[in-house]
Amino acid sequence: MSQDSAQRGNDCADRAAGPLALETALAQLLAAAAPVAERESVLTDQALRRVLAASVVSPTPIPGWDNSAMDGYALRTADVAEPGRRLQVGQRISAGATGVALAPGTAARIFTGAPVPPGADAVAVQEACEQSGDWVQVNAAVRAGDNIRRAGEEIAAGQEVLSAGTRLAPQHLALAAAVGAAELPVYRRVRVAIFSTGDELVMPGQPLAPGQIYNSNRFQLRALLETIGCEVLDLGIVADRRQDTIEALTRGASAADLILASGGVSVGEEDHVKPAIEQLGRLELWRLAIRPGKPLAFGHVGGTPVIGSPGNPVALFIVFSLLVRPFILRRQGVCGDVMPSPIWGEAGFDWPRPDKRREFVRARLERQPSGAPRVHVYSSRSSAMLSSLVWAEGLAVIPEGQALAAGDPVQYIPFSELLA
Ligand code: AMP
Ligand code: MG
Repeated sequence: MSQDSAQRGNDCADRAAGPLALETALAQLLAAAAPVAERESVLTDQALRRVLAASVVSPTPIPGWDNSAMDGYALRTADVAEPGRRLQVGQRISAGATGVALAPGTAARIFTGAPVPPGADAVAVQEACEQSGDWVQVNAAVRAGDNIRRAGEEIAAGQEVLSAGTRLAPQHLALAAAVGAAELPVYRRVRVAIFSTGDELVMPGQPLAPGQIYNSNRFQLRALLETIGCEVLDLGIVADRRQDTIEALTRGASAADLILASGGVSVGEEDHVKPAIEQLGRLELWRLAIRPGKPLAFGHVGGTPVIGSPGNPVALFIVFSLLVRPFILRRQGVCGDVMPSPIWGEAGFDWPRPDKRREFVRARLERQPSGAPRVHVYSSRSSAMLSSLVWAEGLAVIPEGQALAAGDPVQYIPFSELLA
C-alpha cells in the first residue's frame, strides 16, 4: 500500500473522522488485494471456480474443417438449380468419418458434425429431401453455404479463447476442452484463516451452559469461503482476551493469505481484535457507513491482511458479501468486476425513517403480473436473526438518508450474485 493510502487509513482509524463510505473502504481494500503469486497446473476437469493465471490459446481453428450443421445431403447447388432435381447418393459421411470429393450430379448422405466433402457447397436438410434407393430428390431451394459450418468461423488458430483472470465456470471448462486443453494454468487457492471470538460460544454437539450460544459464524464463514473456492484454516473459538486474540492473529499471519475474524471488533472492553491488530501490525480502517456492518477492522499483521467482522451473524454475511468476497476474488486473481450487480425493482414497502448509513436489508423479489420485480423486506432489522437470512433471497439497498415509499425504485442484490 502506498504511503498516501496508509496515511488515509490512519485518518480513517481516527474516531473523529467518522464512518467511511463503502466505496472508499472498498477501494482501499482492493488496492491491498494483489493476486497470490504462485501458480499451478490443474486438470481441466478439476478447474471449476479456479482462476486462470494465463490466457488459453487455441492451437487450431475451430471448427477444424467445413462441416455439416444438419443431417441431410451435401451437394453442389449448381446441380439443384430448381426444386425437384434428383441426385445419385454416392457416399455416406457420418460424424467422425471423412468423405471423398463429390462427383458432379451426386449427393453425399451426411450427418451433423461430419466433414463436408470437397466439391460440395451446401447441405440440404433431410426434411427437404426424399430418398429412394440410391437417389435423392431435393424439394427445396438450396443456396451456396446453407447448413455448412465453415472452418475457423468460430475461432482462428492462435486466437485467445479465455483470458487470464477468468474465474472458471462450466462453460469456460467446455471451451478450454474444445480447443484441446487437458490442463489449465491457475493461481493457487487462497488460504484463509478464520476464528470466532466470544466467551459465549460453544460448538454444536456440546451442551449449552447458561449464557452460552452456539458458534454459527464458523459454519457460515467456512461455507462462504468454500463457495468461492478458498482453502480454510480453522483456528476455532478464541476467548475474549487480548493475549488469545494476539496468538490467533499470529498463527493466522504465518499460515494464511488472509485472516478473517468474527466478533470483538467494537470498542467495548470485551472487544480485543482491533487493539490486537494495532499491537501486532497496523489497523487501516475500522468504521463503515453501512448498516449492518459498521464496525469492521481491516489491517495487516506481519504483511498478512486481517479483516475483523462484527459477530452478529447477519452483519457477518453482509460484510462478507460486500467487502470480503471482492477482496478475496482479487487475491484469487480475478480481473474485472468483483462487486455484485444489483438489479432495479419497485419497493413493496415504505421506509420512512432512513439511517445515515446505507442499509442492506434482507429482501425477496416477487414478480408482479406484468413481470416487473417488486422487492419485499424482512419485518425486523435485527442483525442477530439468522432466520431472516434464510427467509431472504437477496438484499435491498436503501441509500443513506433516503426515505422510500412503496412503488419507488430500489436496488436489489440477489444472493445468486454473492454465493457463487
Ligand atoms: P460481537 O461482535 O463480538 O460484539 O458480537 C455481537 C453479537 O454476535 C453478540 O450477540 C454475539 O453473541 C454474537 N456472536 C458473536 N460471535 C458469534 C458466533 N461465532 N456465532 C454466533 N453468534 C455470534
Ligand atoms: Mg464478542
